[in-house]
Amino acid sequence: CEVPSNMPSYPGLDRWRLLEKLGDGAFSSVYRASDTKSQHRDVAIKVMRKYEMNDRQKTNLQEEVNISRKLDHDNVVRLIDSFESRQYYYMILELCPGGELYDQIVSLTSLSEQMSRHVITQVAHAVEYLHDTMGVVHRDIKPENILLCPSSATPAVTPMEGRKPQTPGIDKDREEAVSIAKAGADDIGVVKIADFGVDMWGIGCLLFTMLSGFPPFYDEDLKVMTRKVMKGEYSFSSPNWESVSPEAKDLVSKLLTINPEDRLNIKEFLAHPWVWGDEDTTPSNE
Ligand code: ADP
Repeated sequence: CEVPSNMPSYPGLDRWRLLEKLGDGAFSSVYRASDTKSQHRDVAIKVMRKYEMNDRQKTNLQEEVNISRKLDHDNVVRLIDSFESRQYYYMILELCPGGELYDQIVSLTSLSEQMSRHVITQVAHAVEYLHDTMGVVHRDIKPENILLCPSSATPAVTPMEGRKPQTPGIDKDREEAVSIAKAGADDIGVVKIADFGVDMWGIGCLLFTMLSGFPPFYDEDLKVMTRKVMKGEYSFSSPNWESVSPEAKDLVSKLLTINPEDRLNIKEFLAHPWVWGDEDTTPSNE
């Protein structure tokens, strides 16, 4: 099958016809492609350049791919297949044609509470699946990693950053981590709660950004920004917060809590009144 002239050709990818470039990542380019052997929907193909990666990055990638292969949830971008050539790793991914949530936020400035609730709930379902069913932590929940599928209006979390929780002193393989997570939170232990808490912090930052159009800890000076993150220093002072309900602010504040043990876990998040709120959450008049 002919490759469009402006598209590169990669060894071992003959089955797919690259149609357009969707974007670039670290060491990678992502393309929309059609499968010449079947009439299935188009896919996204992530081509990673091995020669730009060091050994550690390759090992991390392989671990992430091994985990991603086992993930099966409507709100987690599906890894359909993965293989490699001498110079490249290839990942055949479910296509999310709606692009990144980040671009939606930038173009709309901020999202309504109703839309924010819709998006964050789907993200939370993905995180609940990762934490409670699979025993893995995503570690990089942010607007750039939430891809949108407009046909089903389903936001999906990229699977790539999924990692098993790192438990100092206990070198468990993934199967053990999964069975521990299934056994219940009590068996996971404080260290793991802290690890899962990373994603809850990410959900808090994401919700804050959707509701106000600004990230919670932004500062042009990186040092100042880092200090703000370390101290959990943020405020609901921008004008966009005036019309946001107290319930939404309450939820954000219970996620952007420095001590991970005080932070909501994913079950508590999903049980919060704002998540269950009416479509027309009453705006605050404060
Ligand atoms: P990295 O994680 O290395 O930064 P990404 O996975 O974010 O790279 O991919 C780079 C670009 O490709 C991003 O702009 C992203 O929106 C796009 N992209 C990645 N995966 C898909 C997908 N499954 N469907 C549609 N676009 C995707």
